[in-house]
Amino acid sequence: MSITRSVVHMDLDTFFVSVERLTNSKLEGKPVIIGGMSDRGVVSSCSYEARQFGVHSAMPMKMARSLCSEAVVIRGDMDAYSRYSRIVTEIIAEQAPVYEKASIDEHYLDITGMDRFFGCMQWTHELRQRIMKESGLPISCGLSVNKTVSKIATGEAKPNGEIEIPGLQVKDFLSPLSIRKIPMIGNRTFHQLRSMGIATIGTLGQIPIEMMDSLLGKNGIVIWKKANGIDLTPVVQYSERKSIGSERTFQKDTMDVAGLHDLLTSMVEKLAFQLRKEEKLTSIVTVKIRYSNFDTHTLQKRVSYTSFDHVLMPIARELFDRLYQRRMLIRLVGVRFSGLIRGVQQLNLFEDTSEMVHLYLAVDKLRRRYGSDAVKRASGIQLRDLEERTDQSQQQKAVPSPEERQQIDNLKNRRFRYWYR
Ligand SMILES: [Mg+2]
Repeated sequence: MSITRSVVHMDLDTFFVSVERLTNSKLEGKPVIIGGMSDRGVVSSCSYEARQFGVHSAMPMKMARSLCSEAVVIRGDMDAYSRYSRIVTEIIAEQAPVYEKASIDEHYLDITGMDRFFGCMQWTHELRQRIMKESGLPISCGLSVNKTVSKIATGEAKPNGEIEIPGLQVKDFLSPLSIRKIPMIGNRTFHQLRSMGIATIGTLGQIPIEMMDSLLGKNGIVIWKKANGIDLTPVVQYSERKSIGSERTFQKDTMDVAGLHDLLTSMVEKLAFQLRKEEKLTSIVTVKIRYSNFDTHTLQKRVSYTSFDHVLMPIARELFDRLYQRRMLIRLVGVRFSGLIRGVQQLNLFEDTSEMVHLYLAVDKLRRRYGSDAVKRASGIQLRDLEERTDQSQQQKAVPSPEERQQIDNLKNRRFRYWYR
């Protein structure tokens, strides 16, 4: 027997659009679309006014423009969004006992036990008011017994609202809602279930769990539990210090700056690939060097949320150049990404995006198949003697299919040059 939890989900309403409206009041009440400006770009975010025309995020910009020709289209400013995201996180961090930063505009809070002092909903209401007052941004929230129900409740509260679903009301609340409202259900699962005549969460919750198992495997069981209001996943405390990193100690100390740059490049490339693989974004880059006399120096920089090598590489290099001031032999160099949140790469792309997104997707696919060393930046491959003497034996020679060979050849000719080895 476990105690009933109180979990809050908070989600900023049309976050990017709301930030733009802070500095440009003319955008108020108008259909606004944020994303890549060219026809090949995609919609990152859009206002409720634009949604009424059928526009939604991830839609090709060309289609969005034709659905809503009067929309104001904005390129987007990841620096500003990252800044406002931090402002909101700081307010929550001050108030909440345990909070998880789930994405750039989303938080989960575990406030179990707060009701001993004053109701949990009152507490949530006051926090929400404070966020709106101090950031100027509209935010919606749901309070319930677990993350899934709270998130669905936020969805129902939007725009600009708050809902509490006490434990005893969870089933009645979920029952009439579309199965689409369950966060795990994507297009494919939705259509699969719909074709079986399952439309509402209530119906879904009543089918035998064994059937969900045979239909969708492990995911089916999780979905079934969610449909029945069961979700035991904890709110995991966010820590800016949580990080991924890579360090290299040289067998022979070095002053070869070009070689060190190359090594940094290759480290950043691998770590950024890891970020994308885990669907994470970083907001703090740290570079570390150790001189041959063991003097160790680090320098860090806050950046806009990203998982792109071509954004992170110049930052790592800049930090290294600022650090490496003494003409002394270096014994170790390292890179670390922290301030991690969940998020996918498209989020920080407002430029001519699809081509670059596709480039990253293609490269990452090859890496997943043949290992993270399979495709490397042109600048990263001259450093054989500096790099990885240890794991060379593990290198397997991969044989790409003709189709992949073609893809690789295409990649070689792009702006960001890649090589296959
Ligand atoms: Mg949001």
